[in-house]
Amino acid sequence: MAKLVRGFRDIFEPQSKNFTELENCARGVFSLYGFGELRLPTVELKELFIKSTGETTDIVQKEMYAFEDAGHRQLAIRPEGTPGVVRAYLENNFTQNAPVQKFYYIGNMFRAERPQAGRYREFEQIGAEYIGNAAPAADAEVILMLKDIVAKFGAKNYKVKINSLGCDKCRPLYRQALIDFLSKEKETLCENCQTRLEKNPLRVLDCKLDGARFAGRVPTMHLCPECQAHFDEVQRLLKGKIDFEVDPMLVRGLDYYSRTVFEFQAGDASQNAIAAGGRYDTLIKNMGGPATPAIGWAMGAERVILSRGEVARPKEKSVCVVSLEKDCNETAFNLMQALREAGVRTEGGLFEKNVKGQMKQADRCGAAYALILGGDELSKKVATLKDLQTGEQTQIAFDVLTDEVKKRI
Ligand code: ATP
Ligand code: MG
Repeated sequence: MAKLVRGFRDIFEPQSKNFTELENCARGVFSLYGFGELRLPTVELKELFIKSTGETTDIVQKEMYAFEDAGHRQLAIRPEGTPGVVRAYLENNFTQNAPVQKFYYIGNMFRAERPQAGRYREFEQIGAEYIGNAAPAADAEVILMLKDIVAKFGAKNYKVKINSLGCDKCRPLYRQALIDFLSKEKETLCENCQTRLEKNPLRVLDCKLDGARFAGRVPTMHLCPECQAHFDEVQRLLKGKIDFEVDPMLVRGLDYYSRTVFEFQAGDASQNAIAAGGRYDTLIKNMGGPATPAIGWAMGAERVILSRGEVARPKEKSVCVVSLEKDCNETAFNLMQALREAGVRTEGGLFEKNVKGQMKQADRCGAAYALILGGDELSKKVATLKDLQTGEQTQIAFDVLTDEVKKRI
């Protein structure tokens, strides 16, 4: 038999409803904040992610689904959304025509990671990118927008952490201080971190194995006056509107971040980040565009859904049409269509089965009523509406049928 690929999932109802609810909730909030949807391709040139996400990141080194197509192009199935957004922004000349843009995207991302709860090889991200505004207000705005979505959706017990990674002026000093500190403990670091130490020491703090034990011991970042003022202002704008804590250990695993970074975390597991993001003021220039500030985030739909937990949904009332005889099947079919046209949720259609089988089906699909049609009824142009809770039956004439059913549903 055909088999599902490891790390991938089929999502049936009611779980699939969680995704629709989250997406609808997000779309509503995006619209309030003036963000417009950007639908992006799933496949990009592999080079795009190497140049933007970063050559030394886990995503590019270990997790990317990359392949060569028949035309010998080196492609990748997107592991994240930001590089595609920036590519689309640059390629479509927004830099000249309308440099300030607020985009959101909803789509599946792919990473060849070890599958576990909250970590899949195909997962959904909902993301936002605010391009062209360098002010601390933009940072505060996107963080509050993220909070609005998560809170409105009903995610529980999450913490908001923020930090500043500084800029090209202040980060190199910190980087060196970190290399000096970590070099003393090099032997105790995991294999990955021993390499990271030279290439990107900040990432050691983000390591799932080594990160936590450096908390409170590592040298802290000394921001340049501009970066400090920016970070202070972000915090001032957020105060009173959202609970957050400054975490000097929060460094994020991607290459392109500068200044403000943030994470929404639920629980203590290693896959606890329900959403994460930050400023990337140098990425657009590095990708060949003019110097353009930007900030964005992405949330993992599965993790936000997990943090909300099970929800009770009111059952939608429906009618199940049952035909007692072959001669009634066509009229029964037409009744189903008439009811649907009138806006009534209608099941039925298993007319080849006997009454018992059809009633069982009505029960299975949770119908509130069965609409039963037999030869007797057909000749009188009526149908029997049976309340499946009380067992009560009423005969209703065809010409008032949809109105009468609608009254009860
Ligand atoms: P993690 O530290 O958990 O590996 P990350 O830093 O790789 O996360 P980002 O690249 O910032 O994550 O992606 C943003 C969000 O996407 C994460 O906060 C998380 O909610 C979600 N996410 C990332 N990888 C996965 C995955 N493999 N399965 C499900 N959700 C994921
Ligand atoms: Mg990861």
